[in-house]
Amino acid sequence: MPPSSTVIPLAPHPATAPPRLAPNGKRFFIWTIGCQMNEADSAKVAAMLQEVGYRRTEDETDADIVVLNSCVVRQAAEDKVAGKLNSLARLKRERPQMPLVLTGCMVTNQQEKLKERFPHVDLFFDPSDFDRLQTVVPELADLEDDLQQLPHYYAPQAEGLSTDAGRAAVTAFVPIIYGCNFLCSYCIVPYRRGKETSRPLAEIVAEVERLVAGGVREVTLLGQTVNAYGHDLPDKPGLAGLLRAVDAVPGLERLRFLTSHPRYMSDEIIRTMAELPSCCEHMNLPVQAGDDEVLRRMRRTYSRELWRERIAFTRDQMPGCTVATDVIVGFPGETDAQFEQTYALLEDVACDKVHLAMYSPRPGTLSARWEDDVPHAEKLRRHQALEALQVRLCTERNARRLGETVEVLVEGKAKGRWTGRTRGNQLVHFDDAADRLGQLVDVRITQTSPWFFVGEAVGPGR
Ligand code: SF4
Repeated sequence: MPPSSTVIPLAPHPATAPPRLAPNGKRFFIWTIGCQMNEADSAKVAAMLQEVGYRRTEDETDADIVVLNSCVVRQAAEDKVAGKLNSLARLKRERPQMPLVLTGCMVTNQQEKLKERFPHVDLFFDPSDFDRLQTVVPELADLEDDLQQLPHYYAPQAEGLSTDAGRAAVTAFVPIIYGCNFLCSYCIVPYRRGKETSRPLAEIVAEVERLVAGGVREVTLLGQTVNAYGHDLPDKPGLAGLLRAVDAVPGLERLRFLTSHPRYMSDEIIRTMAELPSCCEHMNLPVQAGDDEVLRRMRRTYSRELWRERIAFTRDQMPGCTVATDVIVGFPGETDAQFEQTYALLEDVACDKVHLAMYSPRPGTLSARWEDDVPHAEKLRRHQALEALQVRLCTERNARRLGETVEVLVEGKAKGRWTGRTRGNQLVHFDDAADRLGQLVDVRITQTSPWFFVGEAVGPGR
């Protein structure tokens, strides 16, 4: 999941029951960086604090507790967290009684080192251990059992809708499996998030039912290896079983999931996606590299051919299905010829979206022990070459869709225009005087670009 940096927006939701304790006049501030899993964890922390009477503030200087949710998947993200922590040192000096809390993937089990580096932080807690928050918010101890029942999802609101903060979110991200059993040589996630642990199927379905009752129309199921779902549960429902159960929730229009691992992308899952009406025609399947030797050293446990074949099977089962992938360039030892293999694979498969990253070693991982021998300038060249390839492929492909009518779920407004996504997860902007928020609108495409479509509404929304 590509990192982002956001303050969790106000997203009050009718699916949330009233807090158990009356407002206590205290305020919390949460800052989040990283993937949607972190966003969902922050939403859970927010729900816990609201349960015991806290209110959210968007101003850290006004807060009675500050929580930072960190990401260390890439060096740039870690640097941002360190910068944010350092910038809070002055506030902590001025208000020493205000707890400063750090969670997320920066928190290791060697917390003494973090304490040495950031002595002004009061509590470091592992994202799987929400109970530790009681250390600085003792009121949570009285509600311990009830807190276990709190929903765990993230419901974003579109930029530009701050005046509509009281309106329900349209989409929601629901974690279904935590952790990862793989040990990709470059990845820090398994060390920070632990082994795969699936949430019970009934709990997820109940959460989706509450979200849909509150106005959500699209749900994305989340996990670091989302398609490994259920193997650790007693009756092993599998992702296909969960998709069926969630698809049956009345009123749910769209269902997505990310991030998948190619090894677990079974025929059954793909066939189930094709069969269920709510499952969107969009596949997110990271390849990371297009050369088998690089994949072997990455410890990805599949070949370029397996990934290519999974995409081909998906397109065969769901014609028109869009495809997104992730690629790392400049992995230790990656030669020009090996990079060319990646380039050729991406040119051949022609994905709709490629999340590109330049390799950076993460301390504690296997590959961090190897020489980071691809010079930065060369990593940049490879990154730019794939970026240019992607722009060319998407320009051509999207141009062919001019005049087509697509179904858009309107998530909000951006720069004065309604904005939403197709079932294929492509961004569409359109002008309309009517209030379209939360509606499914048919939009005729009048302009294309490699990154989004512009169009006009055709008929009323629904
Ligand atoms: S599958 Fe690999 S890259 Fe993905 S979270 Fe697990 S170890 Fe990291």
